[in-house]
Amino acid sequence: MFESLSDKILGSVKKLRGQATISESNIEEAIKEIRMSLLEADVNFKVVKNFIDRVKAKAIGAEVIKNVNPGQMFTKIVHDELVQTLGGDKVDVNVRENPSVIMMVGLQGAGKTTSTAKLGLYLRQKLGKKVGFVPADIYRPAAIEQLQILAKQNGFSCFSSTTEMKPEDILTQALAWAKKEMIDVLLLDTAGRLQIDDELMKELEDLKQVITPTEILLVADAMLGQQAVSVAETFHQRLGLTGLVLTKVDGDARGGAALSIREMTGIPIKFMGVGEKVSALEVFHPDRLAGRILDMGDVLSLVEKAQEVMDHQEVEKSAKRMMNNEFTLTDFLSQIQQLKKMGGLESMLKFLPGMGEISKQMKNMTPPDSEMKKIEAIINSMTIQEREDHRVLNGSRRQRIADGSGTRVQDVNKLIKQFEEAKKMMSGMMKMGLGKAMRGGKS
Ligand code: GDP
Repeated sequence: MFESLSDKILGSVKKLRGQATISESNIEEAIKEIRMSLLEADVNFKVVKNFIDRVKAKAIGAEVIKNVNPGQMFTKIVHDELVQTLGGDKVDVNVRENPSVIMMVGLQGAGKTTSTAKLGLYLRQKLGKKVGFVPADIYRPAAIEQLQILAKQNGFSCFSSTTEMKPEDILTQALAWAKKEMIDVLLLDTAGRLQIDDELMKELEDLKQVITPTEILLVADAMLGQQAVSVAETFHQRLGLTGLVLTKVDGDARGGAALSIREMTGIPIKFMGVGEKVSALEVFHPDRLAGRILDMGDVLSLVEKAQEVMDHQEVEKSAKRMMNNEFTLTDFLSQIQQLKKMGGLESMLKFLPGMGEISKQMKNMTPPDSEMKKIEAIINSMTIQEREDHRVLNGSRRQRIADGSGTRVQDVNKLIKQFEEAKKMMSGMMKMGLGKAMRGGKS
């Protein structure tokens, strides 16, 4: 997301680097380019105008602080105003009531059912809530079934709605069910249509009267760009939305919807969907996203992601073995698998400062993830004994492993050499006292 916007803004800021001061004339060019790139990214023209006016006002009045060059100063101004456009502070989902009812609304295909499951997982994992799903799309049996399957796969309770029930009845019965099951948060997956129609809006309004939801979240497809903004405006007029879940952000290179929707509608974006898997949901942090657009990195999100998906026991076990110089190919494989769980090296790189630039230079190299896949295949073709002690790997064993993993003997040799070098380096570091530091100073 935001790739081309990011490139262009960075390019225009770069030109300011050599300048001694910020002046109206030297920022004019940069501002013109930023305006163009925002419009090209399909950001609403009113939003662009407001943004540019604010940046200009701040930049012209800005005193360049000692030791900070005008490029950096200007980047900071652009960053702060991007944060503002994206909504300022992050707004949490409200689940304080018991039970809280979150009504998920949106057009068909926007990702409503998928986002319901994603949100369920977030509420359980992050906030420790007991979550129950309620399918309320009685027009599409497939939609009910889809939510039931997602519930089952992820260990959630799901109310047994049927297409014969009226949506109002589903709700009253589901509320009683939630009390009995001691459910903290009910996630209500409502009906969608391909386009906005009056009948659907009326039905959603009626549902809102029956349950008084804690949150009404619109699930909107980011790939629709400006159209997503007008969908949000209509839903908001009829229902009074409390938040947005912006989906398919992973496939949206431009970012126009994300940058326009908050300012145009006043509704905070609370989450964004970044993939098809149920774990692919991120809390919407305006400041972190602005940082990513300006290639300033988003290390905080990276650390959080690691905490979520990594198997801590496994990581600790490897670290201990590393310290005792017992690190084997089994540990190596386990580390690769942990990295894979985080979405692979390539997807992690985009969180690091300056990586946008560096990853462009890496285009001609073997992609790190396919290199990792090869290593994984090679280690998987080894016997347990070989993984635990690589010294037994003679020529014929290496040939067998290459055949088994669909690689060449040279690849097997290269991996073993790399592994030996890594092991030597680790052992050196441990001797230098890093082991002590890793154990928290205790020896
Ligand atoms: P609904 O009709 O609104 O309930 O939409 P679904 O939940 O059935 O999703 C429609 C399609 O969009 C499915 O193929 C989902 O896998 C896909 N989808 C949903 N959210 C995301 C997302 O954040 N990223 C991507 N890439 N696909 C998504």
